[in-house]
Amino acid sequence: MVFFRRNQEEVPEILQDLDEIRQGIEKAKLPESVAKAAHRELEKLEKTDPSAAEYGLGLNYLEYLISLPWNHFTEDNLDLERAQALLDSRHYGLKMVKERILDYLAVRKLCSTQNFQVLVVDDESVARTNLKYILEKEGYLVDTAENGVEALEKLRSREFDLILTDLKMANMDGMQLLETVKDIAPFTKTVILTGYASVDTAVNAMRKGAAHFLAKPVKIEEIRGLVRGIQEKKKHIQHTRDPILCFTGPPGTGKTSVGKAIAEALGRKFVMLSLAGMRDEAELRGHRKTYVGAMPGRIIDEIRRLGVRNPLFMLDEIDKIGQDFRGDPASVLLEILDPEQNSRFLDYYLDVPFDLSSVIFIATANGLETLQGPLLDRLEVIPFEGYTEKEKLFIAHKHLIPRQLKNHGLNRYSPKFQDEAIIKIIRDYTREAGLRNLEREIATVCRKLARNCLESKGDSCSVEVRPSMLEGFLGPRKYFSEVTGAKDRGGVATGLVWTNFGGEIIFVESTIMRGSQQLILTGSLGSILQESAQTALSYIRTKAEELGIDPDFYDNKDIHIHIPAGAIPKDGPSAGLTIAMALISLLTGRPARRSVATTGELSLSGRILPVSGLREKLLAAQRAGVKTVILPGKNQSEVQNMESDIRGGLDVVFASELPEVIDQVLLPSND
Ligand code: ADP
Repeated sequence: MVFFRRNQEEVPEILQDLDEIRQGIEKAKLPESVAKAAHRELEKLEKTDPSAAEYGLGLNYLEYLISLPWNHFTEDNLDLERAQALLDSRHYGLKMVKERILDYLAVRKLCSTQNFQVLVVDDESVARTNLKYILEKEGYLVDTAENGVEALEKLRSREFDLILTDLKMANMDGMQLLETVKDIAPFTKTVILTGYASVDTAVNAMRKGAAHFLAKPVKIEEIRGLVRGIQEKKKHIQHTRDPILCFTGPPGTGKTSVGKAIAEALGRKFVMLSLAGMRDEAELRGHRKTYVGAMPGRIIDEIRRLGVRNPLFMLDEIDKIGQDFRGDPASVLLEILDPEQNSRFLDYYLDVPFDLSSVIFIATANGLETLQGPLLDRLEVIPFEGYTEKEKLFIAHKHLIPRQLKNHGLNRYSPKFQDEAIIKIIRDYTREAGLRNLEREIATVCRKLARNCLESKGDSCSVEVRPSMLEGFLGPRKYFSEVTGAKDRGGVATGLVWTNFGGEIIFVESTIMRGSQQLILTGSLGSILQESAQTALSYIRTKAEELGIDPDFYDNKDIHIHIPAGAIPKDGPSAGLTIAMALISLLTGRPARRSVATTGELSLSGRILPVSGLREKLLAAQRAGVKTVILPGKNQSEVQNMESDIRGGLDVVFASELPEVIDQVLLPSND
């Protein structure tokens, strides 16, 4: 079918188009309500002048509708051993993540192999026995009940997938049973069978939530087909009660590639949609088709492109979704991720519901602070953590370098990377918790190797990459240790904070000047950080004498605290201790050791309260060349349980009160 190839003279072709569409509607086996809507649109088109704009729009719409994969699924491969082998072969480490994913797959496997259980409810014993016999021959687990009351008793002690019930029965009839089942077992489908068929009762039963309605005498083929259809549907939707996984962690820690590996293990198609900066609801949900240039939303469009109804759909950077006057995409997300609602997802362009319940959605986020409560409630968060230098080295050898050599056509020459060269790339050319830039720099080296290989006509293809070659390949080093070799200064203290990019080292700067007791805070500090600064200042004012500071130091003075990298918004309580150290250093004139980093929330009485994100902070301290890290005493057991590599080479000190920290951070006074 071709879009917009018609003109007025080609009447036969137009008729042919409409005919093709009609056949397309039949072939696509659309759900009943969708087929009705499609036929309505087709009738409208038949009456529309083919030269009118609406004609083309209507035709496009119908072509789009029938091209959607209404009935196309891929079969899940739920072989757990294979899944584990695949995850292990693609990813080093990530023990907890892999465990959780295998648990998730195990539940899917159990659910899918569970027998389909049917309850036949009829007051005629012959009807009950016959139906039981027919259905058991089809492989279903079948139980029977004489009336609604007995059926409910059985339903309370056991879960059924389907109830086939007669309508007229003593005690409790089929209609009453249907209504009660909806409350106590909402996932159980009910089909009404009756000899008293009338349009009214049928409509009434469907309105009350029956899955179907069959008139007695029921044909065997009809009942077999119906039950098979319901079972098929159930097989695809029974996972709707699964939680939506949300992979959270700094960039480059493997969230996307683990998502791809899960899709591959399951044999599902994979698609990723970045939500970063998406502001317009219509991007996800489409525009109403009456608008000129209307388009479907990205969700439906991706599903159409893949041609299956059950892909693994990764919603990337769910924490960066925007919001403005054009609607709130986050609320559409709520609907997409809600199993109760997504079986009837309404794209505005389609204007008919599309069932998304067999899609596996996995979200990714760098941090969770910006996510709204209701959205967060739907997600099961699986944290991804930053890697140590040793892990990065190993992953580079085992995964990143072989992949890049292959991508650059070099694997047959197998050039080698010396450990020292990889470590130099990690230290001098990257500063990250994950592996993204490391892989990028390795790719650059491979490009240069490929060119050298060609230019030397094959002579220098199997080289060994040594540290001394890197400057030639990658240019001058990009990162220097912010700590080693830098001067210890008064009023400047080193701290560790956690951000969405992993741990970061910060330098809190402070200065005092003539003024009127103002505390000036700069460096894009959030409200919690501003409060931490005020708390630190009040503590110092109350304890001035004990700290060896003139108690009137604030009279006629302003204090300015600045945390550089002002373009990056910062917040959180864990810089309280570092701010206090910067101020004490400033007010006592004792320089602060640059190689000693602190992190901890400070209370007004000088207690050091526990903080989070320690793994990432310790990794950041290592990257920055910090020697000593001072942490809250209450975090001690957590840190002691970490793998030794995370503390690697760091002198870790725990403290519970601020006075314990002073001499460790501050040098003796210069005077
Ligand atoms: P994210 O989605 O978290 O930003 P990616 O999945 O894009 O990160 O990972 C960046 C690169 O690092 C990818 O090439 C990925 O295969 C690789 N990678 C990340 N973690 C691991 C790991 N544990 N083992 C092997 N490779 C990894």
